[in-house]
Amino acid sequence: MMEQIKKNIVSYARQQISDEDVQAVTKCLRSDWLTQGPCVEQFERAVADYCGVGHAVAVSSATAGLHLACRALGLCSGGILWTSPNTFVASANCAKYCGADVDFVDIDPHSYNLSVEQLRQKLVVAQKQGCLPSVVVPVHFAGQSCAMMEIHALAEEFGFAILEDAAHAAGADYLGRKVGCCEFSDAAVFSWHAVKNITTGEGGMILTNNRDLAERSRLLRSHGITRDHSLMEKPDEGPWYYEQIELGVHYRITDFQCALGISQLARLDEFVSRRREIVSCYSMAFSGLPLILPWENPHANSSWHLYVVQVDERRTGRTRRQLFDALRTAGIGANVHYIPVHIQPYYARLGFRLGDFPVAEAYYSRCITLPLFPGMRSEDIEHVTSTVQHFFT
Ligand SMILES: *Cc1c(COP(=O)(O)O)cnc(C)c1O
Repeated sequence: MMEQIKKNIVSYARQQISDEDVQAVTKCLRSDWLTQGPCVEQFERAVADYCGVGHAVAVSSATAGLHLACRALGLCSGGILWTSPNTFVASANCAKYCGADVDFVDIDPHSYNLSVEQLRQKLVVAQKQGCLPSVVVPVHFAGQSCAMMEIHALAEEFGFAILEDAAHAAGADYLGRKVGCCEFSDAAVFSWHAVKNITTGEGGMILTNNRDLAERSRLLRSHGITRDHSLMEKPDEGPWYYEQIELGVHYRITDFQCALGISQLARLDEFVSRRREIVSCYSMAFSGLPLILPWENPHANSSWHLYVVQVDERRTGRTRRQLFDALRTAGIGANVHYIPVHIQPYYARLGFRLGDFPVAEAYYSRCITLPLFPGMRSEDIEHVTSTVQHFFT
């Protein structure tokens, strides 16, 4: 009986750790370095090469990366950051850490990403009122790139910096290049949290083509301390000497986490193709059901971090909650991404209200995330598809 129950439990996401991963971490643990050893730089180089970007700065999480990148971009008190309400809270919190203000841009009803049209309209109004954003954070929801070329054109016109929250998008591409190449942005941030496409346990990375931004991120990552003579304010007092020249933080990642990251990165493309295979099984199985399936941008290849459907209220009397409960009862770890950030109590206290971003709110009332991870077995996929089909018949 226990066997039976255990067999049917499918979580919504799960890391994929191989023997090679374990060996890579073990090798690092037995080496001379646990913290700032050779693996950190190797991992940075490997991700930069994979994405085709100039610089990569590894950090302890994507949240840390977003915060550091905002500080390196000069966001501070009096500044304004705009992002999508359909995201994890970290995409907005990074502005608050800097003492800046946050506002949101409603989403596109097809991609569930920040809407370029809404962004344009909001920028025109903000320009008239003299409250343009200094940073805009497009979030590549579920691994599908935002319309970066269009957002970049608006950045040129209205003069804001672009920081991509690419936490979902490792392995994705857009207009033939990898997300993270920063062709249309100042910087991008990946997450290596255990549920994301590749993992270091906890971890993240800032990508940029701007050398100064990378150097500032490195400085702030480690207390604002430098050993670089050209940055020092006082004469060198000896080989032990360093200077703290700014108030930085401690957002470093360990060497053994990076050993895992290097090993995982080698399988990222394989993971993404497996995700894509599972998505085609889902799309085929769900095509006749009263569900709104994910829209695919013809200019992008999603990394398929999440598979999200909406329960189509016009075609069914069933609710998202009923489907969610049916899945959970069947041992399937359905989830919901995301509760719009602006209705979180913290943001409500800052003045945001239900009704402020109606597209994101309507989407939230209907969306459900189904399990999707490379280690899903065919019987897991079959269990999910038959449970969903059964629910609607
Ligand atoms: C996971 C996630 C983050 C935060 O990542 P951490 O590495 O856990 O800090 C930020 N933004 C989005 C969209 C995420 O999904």
